[in-house]
Amino acid sequence: MGTDTPILDLKDVRYRWSGRVSFGLDIPDLTLQAAETVLLLGESGSGKSTLLSLICGTIAPQSGAVSVAGTDIASLSAGRRDRFRAEHIGLIFQQFNLLPYASVLDNILLPLRFAPQRRARVPSPQDTARMLCQDLGLPDDAIAAQAGTLSVGQQQRVAAARALIGAPPLLIADEPTSALDAATQATFLNLLFTQARAHGSTLLMVSHDARLATHFNRVVQMADITKTHRAAA
Ligand code: ADP
Ligand code: MG
Repeated sequence: MGTDTPILDLKDVRYRWSGRVSFGLDIPDLTLQAAETVLLLGESGSGKSTLLSLICGTIAPQSGAVSVAGTDIASLSAGRRDRFRAEHIGLIFQQFNLLPYASVLDNILLPLRFAPQRRARVPSPQDTARMLCQDLGLPDDAIAAQAGTLSVGQQQRVAAARALIGAPPLLIADEPTSALDAATQATFLNLLFTQARAHGSTLLMVSHDARLATHFNRVVQMADITKTHRAAA
């Protein structure tokens, strides 16, 4: 990857959920450069989560290309695509998607299992996980706890640590602050930005909350990057 290869590049991407005529995503062009922090704003139902699924390669566009770090992810086999995602993308879901019965430590280390290069950047996984927990303001004894026993705000920090470990070049967060009160939200964002900056990671965060805009380099509106789609009457 050259230094000026965008970390994310979508060209003429079209996606329809099967059987859903009333919704369609058409994105002519969306590019994110390395180390940018971008807030993606859009109303509920505008296709933000669908777009993130396309970026992660969990769904494939009907036409067009989604390139991450210069690789068109649709060109990869399913197995290689899973590994590519684990290597390049740190994901924070709206619902955190932690393994509730596994320990906090095991949750944080999970992506490294599928990503040897990312794993290689973490010489001592347990120490790194512990440091991330500290930086993210989790109590020292949380690391051994079952993830499901933590508070919502704490679980969200675990999800952030899991996304950040091994410093993937692209961090994607789908409405990660929607379950938090204002004070916890601000703390969480600060921690996420500090970590992203420390590793030169690109941050793409999705929200319907325009008040978050001041924190980011750039704000992208779903309405501005999508072609208007209307179902046939
Ligand atoms: P947002 O994240 O902006 O709220 P989504 O991407 O979740 O929007 O949803 C956009 C549209 O796609 C909605 O109409 C939604 O019902 C539809 N959709 C989302 N996920 C699926 C799915 N797995 N199967 C079918 N339709 C879906
Ligand atoms: Mg969504």
